[in-house]
Amino acid sequence: MTRIGVLALQGDFAEHIKMLSSLGVDSSEIRLPSHLDSVDGLIIPGGESTTIVQLMDNFGLTEQIKDLIFSGLPVWGTCAGMIVLAADITDDRPKPMGIIDITVSRNAYGRQVDSFEAVVDIPKLGETPFNAIFIRAPAINSIGDSVEILATLDEGQIIAAQEGNVIVTSFHPELTDDLRFHKYFASVVADNNFRNN
Ligand code: GLN
Repeated sequence: MTRIGVLALQGDFAEHIKMLSSLGVDSSEIRLPSHLDSVDGLIIPGGESTTIVQLMDNFGLTEQIKDLIFSGLPVWGTCAGMIVLAADITDDRPKPMGIIDITVSRNAYGRQVDSFEAVVDIPKLGETPFNAIFIRAPAINSIGDSVEILATLDEGQIIAAQEGNVIVTSFHPELTDDLRFHKYFASVVADNNFRNN
């Protein structure tokens, strides 16, 4: 059985773990490099991206996570997690990991509407629309040629994308009771079979 690690330094990691356990997927909290030894996939949760990047550095996790992802470990970043994984950001901080070929802007939806919900189509999850929750969300400004768009807002703004083993969402599926996005990631992890390759 595969196990999905959830980076548990800051942010809403507990909600991700709850979703995975509702699906019957084994999970573990990642705080130290040794915790990465037995995982087949990784989720970087929402929270505060500057804090997450800082703590990843402090705990010596950054390089190891990078190496694992470049060797094919499936990873999914939600909101702040998406900022952490981006190739580039338009803000001064934090320094992103440079994993997925997207450029993002933090807190891109303005102060008045810094939290909102939108019902969106996500073809990979089937025909029923998904209720996407945005909290001080980053925007994806541009994507490279090898990045697949998984979902957009009605006006075309990209809100979910995938490049091979790397998935990002600017919203928070872990704050709904819709398990389909977690199920999709678990299926990517199971198909990838990282530890047995
Ligand atoms: N605004 C946060 C950041 O820039 C992200 C917010 C979130 O993860 N909900 O890091």
